[in-house]
Amino acid sequence: MYDYDLLVVGSANADLVVGVDRRPGPGETVLGSDLAVHPGGKGANQAVAAARLGARTALLARVGDDAHGRLLLQSQREAGVDTDAVLVGGAPTGVALITVDPSGDNSIVVAPGANARLTPDDIRASGDLLARARVVSLQLEIPLETVAEVARTLPPATRLVLNPSPPAPLPAEVLAACNPLVVNEHEARFILGPAAGPAPEDWAKALLELGPQTVVITLGAQGALVASAAEAVHVPAPRAEAVDTTGAGDAFTAALAWRLGQGDSLAEAARFAARVGAVAVTRQGAQESYPTAEEVADR
Ligand code: ADP
Repeated sequence: MYDYDLLVVGSANADLVVGVDRRPGPGETVLGSDLAVHPGGKGANQAVAAARLGARTALLARVGDDAHGRLLLQSQREAGVDTDAVLVGGAPTGVALITVDPSGDNSIVVAPGANARLTPDDIRASGDLLARARVVSLQLEIPLETVAEVARTLPPATRLVLNPSPPAPLPAEVLAACNPLVVNEHEARFILGPAAGPAPEDWAKALLELGPQTVVITLGAQGALVASAAEAVHVPAPRAEAVDTTGAGDAFTAALAWRLGQGDSLAEAARFAARVGAVAVTRQGAQESYPTAEEVADR
């Protein structure tokens, strides 16, 4: 009865990356490497990650009527994502301008572009799309009122997964719809503020008090903590030779959301997602690093 295992409502960006010996200071110009252009944005990343695992995946996003938009549509289609709901036009495709120095430290400027024009009206105009998905996944690289519209109009049978990144204060109605709220350490601290306790178990308890039905805290090489009112379970990360952790959180969240829709418990879904994340960190890039289900099984 569902057309999609996962519908991702979120951002699509072109990542424009230049390697530099030293990142420029105010008023300074430095020469860098050749420009590399990669498809990115948390929404687009999650959709590619899920589709590559074999999930029937759709993306609701907005890109510009330009070369970056076409690059993003192409990478989605190559991964097997249904792009019928990707809106085109209204502003240039979102871009992230990224400079990376030899130590791997980077400076990033994001021009949200078309992502900022994905409106609540666009959600309303998507008809029964939300009802056609088992699970809907959201992040915060699109307007908060658009995120709130999805939470408000979500059919009761559709499960909502939210990664509040970049972190922002969340309305109670959005928090209450999350099952789970997925945060990394930085996002957990932002949402909880100075009241955050010393340990992830404390954060999980405090986050649950804000209203989400369940909580997942990702802990990098330490894995993840999954928590409901009943229990908190630590899921270790498989040991991995990490070369580039870009987009690992997006792969983790997409895999988790997909498996939850397939009937896994929160801990089972997180165990699978941790294996996906552990493959993603062993390869360069974000979308380029995401494994197929066979590659996850081989680990
Ligand atoms: P984010 O990328 O959002 O900061 P994390 O760094 O917590 O999120 O990573 C997300 C998930 O990716 C982790 O929960 C873990 O499963 C996996 N992961 C990240 N870094 C490593 C690592 N060094 N080794 C193994 N798994 C990792």
